[in-house]
This record gives sequence, C-alpha cells and structure tokens, in this order.
Amino acid sequence: MADSMADETIVGIDLGTTNSEVAVYRNGAIEVIDLEGEQIMPSVVSLSPDGSLIVGTAAKNQAILYPERTAISIKRRMGSDESVSLGDKFFKPQEISAMILRELKVRAEKFLGYPVKKAVITVPAFFSDAQRQATRDAGVIAGFEVMRILNEPTAASLAYESDKTKNRIVLVYDLGGGTFDVSIVEAHGDATEVLASHGDTRLGGDDFDRLLLNDVIEEFIRQGNPDPRNTRLALGRLTQAIVRAKHELSFKPYTRIREENLLERDGVPLHMDMEISRQRYEDLIKPLVEKSFESVHKALNDSGKKADELDAVLLVGGMTRTPLVIRRLAEVLEKLPRTDVHPDLAVAMGAGILASRLGGHDDGRVLVDITPYSFGPEAATMGDFGIPIADRYAPIIKKGTPLPANETEEFATLCNNQEKWEVNVFQGENPIASRNIRIGQFIADGFSKVPAGNKVLCTFELDLNGILNVTVVEKLTGLSKRVRIENALGAMAKDDMKKARENLDSFFAAAPELSENLPENLSDDLPDGSTELATQSTKPLEIEAGAVSPAGTTVLAGLRHPARTLLEKAEARLEGMKEKDRSDVLALITRIRADITDGDNKDLPAAMAELDDLLYFLD
Ligand code: ADP
Ligand code: MG
Repeated sequence: MADSMADETIVGIDLGTTNSEVAVYRNGAIEVIDLEGEQIMPSVVSLSPDGSLIVGTAAKNQAILYPERTAISIKRRMGSDESVSLGDKFFKPQEISAMILRELKVRAEKFLGYPVKKAVITVPAFFSDAQRQATRDAGVIAGFEVMRILNEPTAASLAYESDKTKNRIVLVYDLGGGTFDVSIVEAHGDATEVLASHGDTRLGGDDFDRLLLNDVIEEFIRQGNPDPRNTRLALGRLTQAIVRAKHELSFKPYTRIREENLLERDGVPLHMDMEISRQRYEDLIKPLVEKSFESVHKALNDSGKKADELDAVLLVGGMTRTPLVIRRLAEVLEKLPRTDVHPDLAVAMGAGILASRLGGHDDGRVLVDITPYSFGPEAATMGDFGIPIADRYAPIIKKGTPLPANETEEFATLCNNQEKWEVNVFQGENPIASRNIRIGQFIADGFSKVPAGNKVLCTFELDLNGILNVTVVEKLTGLSKRVRIENALGAMAKDDMKKARENLDSFFAAAPELSENLPENLSDDLPDGSTELATQSTKPLEIEAGAVSPAGTTVLAGLRHPARTLLEKAEARLEGMKEKDRSDVLALITRIRADITDGDNKDLPAAMAELDDLLYFLD
C-alpha cells in the first residue's frame, strides 16, 4: 500500500519568494500539508556557525543575527548566474531553492508517512524560460521528478474553481511578501490561459512593513528614546513585532506593540509600548495599495477585457488579507473579491489539484471548510436626526469565510455612563437582527462610567467544529466578557459545507444581500459627542465596501432602543385596559415595531410621542 502510494503521489508546491507550501490529494480532498506545526514555511535558508543547514522559521529567526549566513528571497535571483554566499560557502540560486524544496519534501514525507518523488511546482506568470528552467533544476536537485511547472495565477484560478465545464475569465491579484503581480486568466474546459500579466517586482509586504516600522520608530524617538535602528538586535525584534502587528491589523481595528527592554540608556532599560490603529496603518499604506492598481489597469488593457467582463476577482498572497486592499479592489473593479480560499494557500491548493489530476484522480475539487452563514451581534445604526435604528444586524464573520475564522469589529456605546451591553448573537444574512436565528446571548457589564462613544471591541472566533467564542472587550480598561456557543453551525454536516462551498459562486456573483436590503435613509451624519445619543463612528461593513450605499453605514453597539422601554411599559399595561384603549395602544405598538424594523425613523418619533401621550392620559 505505502509503496504504491509513493509511486503515484504527486505533490503540488508553491515555492514562494517569502513562504512556501505543499498540497496533496488525500482522503478525497486536496489538503495543504502541515509542515511541522504550520502550513506555511518561510523560504529562508541559513547556515549555522557549526556548519549545519537550517531551513524555514528557524532560519528566518537566524536572519536577524547572522544576515551573512542567511539567504532570503532567493526566488528573485532564479535564472541568474550570480552566486549567493552562506557564510564562506557559495551557491547558485537553484541550489538554495533546492534546499527549500528538499526541506518541504522531508516534511511532507514525515506528514504522509511515505516517500514522495513527484511534484508540480508553481512560478510567476512573468517568469522567463531561464527562470522556469532554474526552478525545474532546483526540483531535480531536491530529488523530485518535476511533472509540471505551473503558472501561479493559473493555480489560483484552479483553487477557486476547478470545474472544467465552466468557462470563465478571472483576475488574480497576488500581493506577496516581496512582489506584486496581477493576471487575467481565461479558463475553458481543461485549458487555462494567462491572457495578460503585469507586476511590480519591487512591491510587496516588505514595503508595508518598512513603512510601519519607520513610523513606529519615529514616534518612539519623538517620545525621547534613542533610535533602535542603531542596534541590530533591537531592530530585529522590532521588525518581527511590526510584522505581527500588521497581521493582527488585518482582523482587528487596534493592536499593541510591547517590547520590554528594547534598548537601554545609561544602564536604564527602555521599553516600547505603543498602540497602533488600523486607521493609522491604512493612512500609511494607502499610496502602496493605489500603486498596485496601475498594474491592474495595464493587465486589463493588455488582455482586451473590461472589468465588467470578469467572472471573478481572486485574492492571492498573504498581504491580500489586508482589509484596505480588499475594499479598494472592490471599489476599483466594482466586484467583490473572493475571499473563500485562504489567499496564502490558494496557489499551493491549485498546484495540488493539478498534481492530483496528473496522478489520475478525477475529482480534483478543492474542499475548503467555509462558514455557510454570517455571524454577528445585534447592533443599532444611526439614522437621520440622530435617532438610532435598533434591531440591526452587524455580521462580524461573513458567510463564505474559511474556517477557522477570527474577526474583530469595533463598536461604541450609545448612552452616557452606559455600563452594560446585552449582546445578542445571531446567525444569518438578514440586515434586521430579529429575522435571523438567535444562537446566544450574554451581558457584558462593568463598563466605565464615561460619556457615550466608549469603544467596545467584539471578537467572533468560529472553529471547524462549529464552536463560536464571542468576546467583548472595553477598550479603555481591557475588561472582557466572553461566551462560548457550541454547535453554532447547527446540525450542518460537512456535506452541507461542501454544498455551501459549491453554491458560493452564485453568492459571489450576486450583489451582497446585506447592502441591498439596507434602508436608504441611513446617514453618515452623526450627532456630536455631547448629546444623549452620542455615538462613535466605526468603519463600514468591510466586505460590502464596494456596494454599500454612498451614504455609508455606521454600526453602533447594540443597545436597547429607547422605544423598547416604552413598548414594554405599554405591553405591561395592556391587561386591564378598556377595549377601545387597548386596541389604540396595540395599533401604536404595531406601528412602532414596524418603524423599528423598517428603519423608518421619520414616523418613529411621532408614533412614540403618541403612545407616550396615550399612556400618560390613561394614567
Ligand atoms: P510570497 O508569495 O512572497 O511567498 P505570501 O503569499 O506568503 O508571499 O505572503 C507573504 C506576505 O503576506 C508577508 O509580507 C506577510 O507579512 C503577509 N501576510 C501574511 N499574513 C498576513 C495578514 N494576516 N495580514 C497582512 N499581511 C499578511
Ligand atoms: Mg506567492
């Protein structure tokens, strides 16, 4: 058994500038292999002082202390003849790449439990023949029979849609660690063709890191500290902290950099403790993101296609987890990019699909666990005249997100001295909270007695087993409350997830339901912070960015609507009322409910006043 597996197994490898991954067909599905703890292995090679070879994360960590013994971004040199030194030894680029491939092979074999001899390896669409040949050579040096060299955008398009019967044109936007490229890929039947590809070999995550690093360092210096750039170790630590912060800002509105004893002055240790907001980061990186669109337009032009002819926009590369990238792309192309395959695994998945087909498995379908529903708390939105519309739904984890998912959104209190938030957790797609399924409820209390606008972060974590953890944190104090909801996906079996995955195309093709159903009278004009209903603007629903109404949408902490207290008071008094009064009160209750549900904040104040008057009168 093991032997025949070994003979036929072909792995798919994304040999990236920054990171590499391996995918394989196993148990009926394509799987990105766990390479000892993680699916992603840094494409870094280092020779330790004792002469042993280190590859991956350990090598990346060495890069800070021993840059002269470490090779990073070797992919940039593939196809050239220059030598690269590791300490006092010299290597050709394909030899360094072979070390990476060899390590991937060893780890894959350890995971699978049998030898792996054949591979499909991906390369950028713009790679020349020499660069492709060098990649092939690296594979052979590593001990592989290289079955195919596959274009990365083609691989990505396979990962998103491997159904051969469908013809389609997709735009692949790939922003990795060191390079950016965008391709227009046409797939018909078994054949895929890269119609056009453009890129910028000097634009990638590293540039984003550098901007943030310098900004943080400048602030640190402004606070009266010495420049950490003059100390190698401090700079190294800070660089790693910056990358972590950048990643966190992809799913949180704030992050913190805490580095104890970063530097010292006159024997006194100096610490860094700095909060970074997503807003500040986005302001910094905006020019880089905009720059990438030049290539997008060029590629479209060259392909002879128009944006509205695209069947899908696919995200590839770890950097495309950045919300600003997704948002701007949606705006520029007027189409929601697909986010249902992890962007840093998509190329490996596609390589794995081709590998499995070459290995004779007909079913090369990608199976990715995604959530078939959205999840979020009830919220209020600010309508005209500063009247909040209650019973709004603020999805935090959106339908189609790969699992496990972990997302945070910022909310704000609606009232002065508001000490608690009754969090109602919903599952569903309707913009009106109560029309979704309520799967949990808890009270987050103990908030500080401060004016309205107190920031509250709400995190939703959903794992593959359908366990949902909801955490609410008061930003000011760090006070947190948490609830765990078992079986948030309901009885949905894996099969249904598969179906949901298959249905995704139509979902992404259609305009998002949420923004479609948003009432038109939602306004961006928030009242100023001093009123009773003062509130804090938060960002618009991320994923719908391209489609939200121009007025924008603001989501606030889901507090009790003022009308609810009145309704409860009225309901409590219904019994014992005269028939005529009772029907008048009931009519008003119904009218107010409808106003809340429909977001009709024009009629609501009048209806509330009438009911209030009537109750007063009946007293
Ligand atoms: P490559 O194709 O160059 O090997 P990847 O696709 O692995 O690169 O992307 C690596 C880049 O993606 C790095 O700059 C990394 O910091 C960035 N990245 C990874 N995860 C995230 C995230 N959650 N948010 C923002 N950037 C990320
Ligand atoms: Mg890549």
